[in-house]
Parts: sequence; structure tokens; C-alpha cells
Amino acid sequence: MTPDGRTSGPLDLVLLGPVGAGKGTQARRIAERYRVPHVASGDLLRSHRAHNTPLGQTAAEYMDRGALVPDDLVISMIIDRMRQPDANHGILLDGFPRTVAQARALDKELEAEGRSLKLALYLEVPFEVLVERAAGRWTCRTCQATYNYRVNPPRKPGLCDIDGGELYQREDDRPEVVSERIKVYLRDTVPVVDYYRDRGILREVDGTRDIEGVAGDIQRQLKATVC
Ligand code: AMP
Repeated sequence: MTPDGRTSGPLDLVLLGPVGAGKGTQARRIAERYRVPHVASGDLLRSHRAHNTPLGQTAAEYMDRGALVPDDLVISMIIDRMRQPDANHGILLDGFPRTVAQARALDKELEAEGRSLKLALYLEVPFEVLVERAAGRWTCRTCQATYNYRVNPPRKPGLCDIDGGELYQREDDRPEVVSERIKVYLRDTVPVVDYYRDRGILREVDGTRDIEGVAGDIQRQLKATVC
């Protein structure tokens, strides 16, 4: 900790927020700027599904109905990822933790390595806006970048700006599944927000602003905290 209250050491961050809050878009920017790996639990699970691993097969039945994959499976998947060498200088977790049990497991793992979470950034978006946003979302099959035809369209319809990959609508972005995911969020993940608020490391960011506006707010929060 420096005299002005900022911290140094590995940059371990979590990005919290409901489905459709824009976590993925902002996470990619933070990861690039601070050179830490962006680890999205949903992307890892989708990759397991694509490779038809035992974890992918189990996860599929939960994901398709908007439920959470059991804690023990997700926790060990994330801990394995955290132990890879590219996470030695920090990690940006997106979509994890989603339950208080996951948050506690994360603290324990970081503590065992003499590390601690620097910040939990919370992207706040009113729930009315979320269903609409998720329903208009298209995802790149190869790099998982997301677009929204209203607020953030790709330059060429149907193709990713970054790698030209095909854009598709995720099965769990269907409106009825999104409603379920929001319910689960309120029940299981809002307590995680309170968990970090109680620890004094929660920073709330207005996620209703445009992408640049949100990115600017996040940048200010990070600058104020991190050396
Ligand atoms: P996401 O891409 O983050 O919206 O995640 C898609 C789906 O993957 C979720 O609806 C859950 O079924 C599952 N999932 C992702 N992250 C987690 C997590 N931390 N805990 C449990 N399930 C998760």
C-alpha cells in the first residue's frame, strides 16, 4: 500500500454484473490495458462444451436452462486456470465468482499465494434494460467478442470486427432463459456484491452509459486504486 492508499503487487480483479451489463466488452479492454489474462468462466465452460469434455457435458444441462453450474466444478476449473503462469502478475475474472461460496474459494486460493483481490468492479444496469440487451446480443464463434445490433453493431453484418468470425446468438440469450439467469443473479450473485462491499473493495460503475463512458469510469477507479 502506498501513502495515498493505492496498492501494488499482482493485479487481481473481478468484474461483477448481471447478464447483459457489458462485462465481456469492458473486461477485454481492461485486460489489454493492464496486460492481465481475461478469464471468463462462461467462455471456459463453452469451450469445454465445444470439446465435449466431461465437465462440458455436465455443464450443458445447467447452462441451457440458465442455472448455475455447481460450485465445486466451477471453482476447480477457475483455480486450475489461475495457476497457469500467465496469471502470475494478476488476473481479471469475469463471471466468477457468482456465489458467496465461489468468492470465499477465490479468497482462499489467492491467500495461499500471498495475494489478495484488489478490486471488485460492479457494472450496474437496471433489470428492464438487461433482457432487451441480451436478446439483441450476437457473439463471435471464435473469439467470443459480443455485439449488439442497436448499440454496438459489427462493421460487417454477421461477422466479427476482430477476427472475421461468424456471429451467432447464444442459446442462453433467448428471452426466457435470460429472465431465468436474472432471477438466479438476484438470488445467488447479489450477495457476492454485498460480500465485497462489506470488505470495502467494491467499486460501482454505471453500466447504462455508452461503452466509452463506462470504460472511462472503470479506468478512473483502477487508477485510484492501483499503482
Ligand atoms: P456467462 O457467459 O458468464 O453469462 O455464463 C453462461 C452460463 O455459464 C451461466 O448462465 C451459467 O450456467 C454458467 N456459468 C458461468 N460462470 C459461472 C459461475 N461462476 N458459476 C456457475 N455457473 C457459471
